[in-house]
Amino acid sequence: MSVETTLSLLQSRMARLEPGHVWLAGAGPGDPGCLTLDVVSALTQADVVVYDALVDPAVVAIAEGAELFFVGKRGGKLSITQAEITARLIELAKAGRKVLRLKGGDPYVFGRGGEEAIALAREGIPFRYLPGITSGLAALGNIGIAPTMRGLNKAVILATGQTADLGDELDWRALAATGQPIVIYMGLKILAHITGELMAGGLPADTPAAIVMAATTPRQRVHAATLGAIAGDAERLGFESPVLTAVGRIVSMRAELLALADRALK
Ligand code: SAH
Repeated sequence: MSVETTLSLLQSRMARLEPGHVWLAGAGPGDPGCLTLDVVSALTQADVVVYDALVDPAVVAIAEGAELFFVGKRGGKLSITQAEITARLIELAKAGRKVLRLKGGDPYVFGRGGEEAIALAREGIPFRYLPGITSGLAALGNIGIAPTMRGLNKAVILATGQTADLGDELDWRALAATGQPIVIYMGLKILAHITGELMAGGLPADTPAAIVMAATTPRQRVHAATLGAIAGDAERLGFESPVLTAVGRIVSMRAELLALADRALK
């Protein structure tokens, strides 16, 4: 069956985006191939799309003819506050628009989608959550690291290095003490501090660590090192946001895969 036929069969089963409704959706880590079918369908139905900086322009372009609102960061600064974004969503829904709120990754993972959902519900605005693949998991897989490996870890910690919103900092030492791998979203600016805390919490400096920038996109860059070296390396190599940092023994799978792939090539 062709892709077109398959998609048209699936389309008949997909929900309709009604006027006055908001769909809170995730666009995945970057590569349009990681979009879910529901999100593609939403892009073709929305008459207004409110999107963040992490959403690929090629993805937004699917919403041909829709009015577009960019609400991400420009030059490192938010162009609009979270309260204004929420107010905009409510206003658009009340005006009877078919609203797609599109975020990078999954809307409910470090994306403030939860707050938007609650605000919409409070106003009695019907909304639907459309999951996206969170970058923390997709990015690791994409660079040859399985977030869980039997025998190595029984949990994986998704942590944010962004502290401004929380008002207080994560207890990195306590996370280190679990011995479980940690995937750090954001936090590039304070990576040296975070890795220092993880070592102070008992993780050896030679714990494998990797940093990945713009995962799944043509701008993807990867660097694997140790916990002790990763922050300095990232700075020296000019890694820029968006980046994820993974710390833990699972990271060594990448080197193993690369060695095997090398051998297979010879
Ligand atoms: N809701 C998103 C996370 C938003 S927070 C999700 O589920 O993925 C923004 C952070 O996500 C970035 O600072 C970075 O740490 C991470 N991120 C998102 N996309 C990424 C990508 N393609 N490559 C590397 N990191 C990414």
